[in-house]
Amino acid sequence: MVTTRTPLIAGNWKMNLDHLQAIAFVQKLAWSLKDAKHDHSSVEAAVFPPFTDLRSVQTLLDADGLSLVLGAQDLSAHDSGAYTGEVSGASLAKLDVRYVLVGHSERRTLHAEDDSVVASKVAAAHRHGLVPVICVGETADDLETHGPSAVPVAQLRASLADVPATAEIVVAYEPVWAIGSGKAATAEQAEQVCAALREALVEIVGADRAAATRILYGGSVKSSNIASFMREPNVDGALVGGASLDVDEFASIVRFESHVGV
Ligand code: PEP
Repeated sequence: MVTTRTPLIAGNWKMNLDHLQAIAFVQKLAWSLKDAKHDHSSVEAAVFPPFTDLRSVQTLLDADGLSLVLGAQDLSAHDSGAYTGEVSGASLAKLDVRYVLVGHSERRTLHAEDDSVVASKVAAAHRHGLVPVICVGETADDLETHGPSAVPVAQLRASLADVPATAEIVVAYEPVWAIGSGKAATAEQAEQVCAALREALVEIVGADRAAATRILYGGSVKSSNIASFMREPNVDGALVGGASLDVDEFASIVRFESHVGV
């Protein structure tokens, strides 16, 4: 069976842009992609604004019939109740959110989210019909001690403990040393780990599901290096942080097909 995976370019805005700035940004991004005749069915583009922007961006996407897809940066492991400050998957689903980041290294490090918390959040996303973008990746120390794939593969296995093999997921391989550092992995390094993650998926969810699952690379992706990652057979897109806050740069990353030959 030949499986085609639609590439996904996902922009993680982190704690940037208020709801007014978000509206202006998304309008400009949509115009820029429309001007360039971008085909959203061949490369999916998603934005992951802060929670406070989601309603405004959803309203804009809906009112203008835009093809950009909405993601959230986190969700609660719980469905409702006394969890002050948390946001449930149910509320996100009501806002037409399709994707949700889970296990981003900043959540793992700054909010002490361990593998069991990540697994509960993946399960919560699944319960509410959201697609978790499961972030995995090794630190520079892990790389030296365990080599490139051991930690990301172990994190992926743990994250899938509480969902059925049929659950739709996206995996984002983000070496922690490459996030926000300006030092991206090489395309060969990314491919090596993404291939190991896909092999692990074959064992965990079966060959068909593994072949259909998108595995993204993240860590200092820019318009100047996206094409090299996208040439690799096991890299199906990118999770973009800093560069997703510049409309022209992000639009150019989304349009990597126009410069794959460069
Ligand atoms: C990220 O935070 O997910 C990320 C990949 O950031 P950057 O692109 O800035 O390295």
